[in-house]
Amino acid sequence: PSPPPVTRYNLNHVTISSDPVAHRENILILTPMARFYQEYWDNLMKLTYPHELITLGFILPKNKEGNAATAALQQQIAKTQKSAPEKDRFKSIIILRQDFDPPLQSQDESERHKMQNQKERRAAMSKARNSLLFTTLGPSTSWVLWLDADIVETPVNLIQDLAAHDKAVIAPNCFQRYYNKESQKEDDRPYDFNNWQDSGKAQELASKMGPDDILLEGYAEMATYRALMAYMYTPGADPHTEVPLDGVGGTALLVKADVHRDGAMFPAFPFYHLIETEGFAKMTKRLGYQPMGLPNYKIYHYNE
Ligand code: GDP
Ligand code: MN
Repeated sequence: PSPPPVTRYNLNHVTISSDPVAHRENILILTPMARFYQEYWDNLMKLTYPHELITLGFILPKNKEGNAATAALQQQIAKTQKSAPEKDRFKSIIILRQDFDPPLQSQDESERHKMQNQKERRAAMSKARNSLLFTTLGPSTSWVLWLDADIVETPVNLIQDLAAHDKAVIAPNCFQRYYNKESQKEDDRPYDFNNWQDSGKAQELASKMGPDDILLEGYAEMATYRALMAYMYTPGADPHTEVPLDGVGGTALLVKADVHRDGAMFPAFPFYHLIETEGFAKMTKRLGYQPMGLPNYKIYHYNE
């Protein structure tokens, strides 16, 4: 038997443009998933980017919660890929199960956000994101959209809107809907505090840290005085206003595939005293890119 033929790809022919639909650019949507939310899937289905150009990649922990999420996810996938109209079906779907244990049993919002749990938890998240990225990024991928499993609402043109900015890394502003008891009305509030611009104070804190220490955002015990994109939202202002960022979150993040191909990943170890998505932003900067954010372009996180 003859050996299989060599498959050749010319990366120069894979465009990464501000009009990805016109250029038929392939996009990889990557989601680490601890829990399955129907609202996440419904929102994903509504995205107007041609589904035949979208590959979905998921990674789920191997615990009881992860098993339940996998079953629920697989049910939706089967429904979509087998019986939905052709235009709604995705190009391909990959599901990975983690080969390491999540560090914490409880995944409640309050437990997740405790400062002493952050380093271990975010190191595990880094590994999950890297495993997902390195097993799914292909030679014809133009864009990677990181989208958390608890993002339940985005504009339907999310991908086209973000890509139109033609940035190496771009983040919308992640909010959360809630019932405001004071005004007795439905309201929203900032959620993702990992999209930030650096401060002299944070730099000074970092300079006094040991090599294994990390800076965290959103904790009173560690006031960094960074400028948070979450607080830069201006009602009624242009949703396409751009701001430069030094740290990014992973709730929704559009990355040119070449940035990942250059080697930018999610450090599971302190990198300039930063880990996971914030370490990723730093790494892209060290590679010569400039992450950007859209403070007036809102997406919404689930409210537990
Ligand atoms: P938070 O919103 O910053 O509190 O972070 P989340 O707990 O929502 O985690 C971010 C994303 O990773 C979400 O999509 C979660 O479903 C997912 N996630 C959380 N923990 C794990 C884990 O241990 N393994 C995997 N594969 N995904 C996880
Ligand atoms: Mn979340």
